[in-house]
Amino acid sequence: MTIRVHITPPQGEPLVLDVAGERWVEPSGEAETTIGRDLWALPGLVDAHSHLAVARLDYGPGVFEEAIERARMALAHGVTLLIDKGWRDDTTIRVIDALEEAERPDIEAASVLLAAPGGYYPGFAREVAGRDLAAQVVNAAEEGRGWVKLVGDWPRRGVGPVANFTEAELRSAVESAATRGARVAIHTMAREVPSLAVAAGVQSIEHGLFLTEEDIAMLGGRAGMWVPTLLRVETTIAQLGETSSGGRLLEDGLANVRGLLGTAVEAGVHVLAGTDLVGTPADVADEALKLAEYGLGVDQMVEAVSSSAWAALGRPAPFTVGSPADVVLFPANPVTDPGVLRHPVMVVRRGRVV
Ligand SMILES: [Zn+2]
Repeated sequence: MTIRVHITPPQGEPLVLDVAGERWVEPSGEAETTIGRDLWALPGLVDAHSHLAVARLDYGPGVFEEAIERARMALAHGVTLLIDKGWRDDTTIRVIDALEEAERPDIEAASVLLAAPGGYYPGFAREVAGRDLAAQVVNAAEEGRGWVKLVGDWPRRGVGPVANFTEAELRSAVESAATRGARVAIHTMAREVPSLAVAAGVQSIEHGLFLTEEDIAMLGGRAGMWVPTLLRVETTIAQLGETSSGGRLLEDGLANVRGLLGTAVEAGVHVLAGTDLVGTPADVADEALKLAEYGLGVDQMVEAVSSSAWAALGRPAPFTVGSPADVVLFPANPVTDPGVLRHPVMVVRRGRVV
């Protein structure tokens, strides 16, 4: 049965493609089913900072059956690509292996996080001294699916957040990951650490509340990624209390982000939406809307939760002949009516209607 899809992207020219197996082909002959007329199309939503392993930020072990359900639910809500930023165990990696591609989003993932001794929640990350980081990154890259996740800084009692690694150590981590075809993502909420990470060549800055304009220029120059996770930061501020030292630091960070998001996109940074356990990946539209509230243009916001991720990861452009037949259809143009991102009307994954 031939499925023909009318694809009207929020920006760019409308096109028509047929599904053959799991791929797009040029339309030819009669189609038995035609979908997408009068709808708007994205290649899918993207959660660029998920932790499929668990449902909330309680630092417990992953729960495999629930992670499977979250992966399926994400797809049903239009999420066709996840970048999982790791956990204390390999739950997400097992989800990738357990489900067929058509049953879940595409998933790139880090496995177990790496931190300096005492540099994260006790017993959570794999603790690695800086001199051993390069070797441990090789192991982590082999365990993961395209990513290694580092904890860049962590509060120490009485002094606030402290860097876990030096710039030279971070650079060696990036080089080691590259030997296994992996990228490096870094958790950072401290003031000085984003600059170290950007200078070291780290590919994705997670939270990154204190990126500077110089950092943005450098990160944009190499088309790097920044996943601010604004809902996560707002939630953490509420948990810490606005008047606590940690809460005030994060408030300062959010003020910095507010002035920087649009500049970052214009500089070439791939600003991406990530849920980071405020809701599940199925809720990623909420983070996208939050990015707009903090200063992304609406068109930039739609890219941040969709097309920008394909470009950032160097994947083939969506909606091209030969690429996977994935499309998510919305009842109105998300650029003029952003709320529709929460309510796709149809999801096609690997050529099949979900
Ligand atoms: Zn996270």
